[in-house]
Amino acid sequence: DARVKGIAESIRSIRDFPKPGILFRDVTTLLLNPKAFKDCIDICVERYAESKIDVVAGIEARGFIFGPPIALALGAKFVPVRKAKKLPGEVIGEEYSLEYGTDKIEIHVGAVNPGDRIIVVDDLIATGGTLGAALRLMERVGGEVVECVCVIELPELKGRAKLNGKPLFTVVEFE
Ligand code: 5GP
Repeated sequence: DARVKGIAESIRSIRDFPKPGILFRDVTTLLLNPKAFKDCIDICVERYAESKIDVVAGIEARGFIFGPPIALALGAKFVPVRKAKKLPGEVIGEEYSLEYGTDKIEIHVGAVNPGDRIIVVDDLIATGGTLGAALRLMERVGGEVVECVCVIELPELKGRAKLNGKPLFTVVEFE
């Protein structure tokens, strides 16, 4: 896809953020390029245009940037998948392990109906822990995850292995 090069070139890389040794892929510079941002959304919308998607689930925080325009274009619901204790209503949550300790994500009860066809969206997959937890949460409430979607994949970290065999679509890969 000829659009991918422009998208990749719009993503800035910042050394030693948030910790020494980490090369952070910064999507805020993609958002400053309206053509590249639109191309990125269009690529995802085109992929699922005929997939009868009911729910686009976006993971906090940068899944809240890419998920809603995809949901609007597909005529799907947008469901925010938030870090624990942020949502005001009754929630259902799923824990996942970090390098040290655990974290938890939550959705509102009733946001996803049994049988809903879902894509789960985030900006980046590294180890796959976050996306894997979102996937388990969707399946626990009876949703059918059609595919996971990330703008960026870091294939060296083998995050796909945490997705329980679910397909993952990514727009760009970085070593
Ligand atoms: P994982 O759970 O796959 O190890 O980490 C992915 C999560 O951490 C995503 O929610 C993503 O937003 C965030 N993340 C980890 N590394 C980066 C990075 O280099 N750039 C950005 N934009 N997000 C990152």
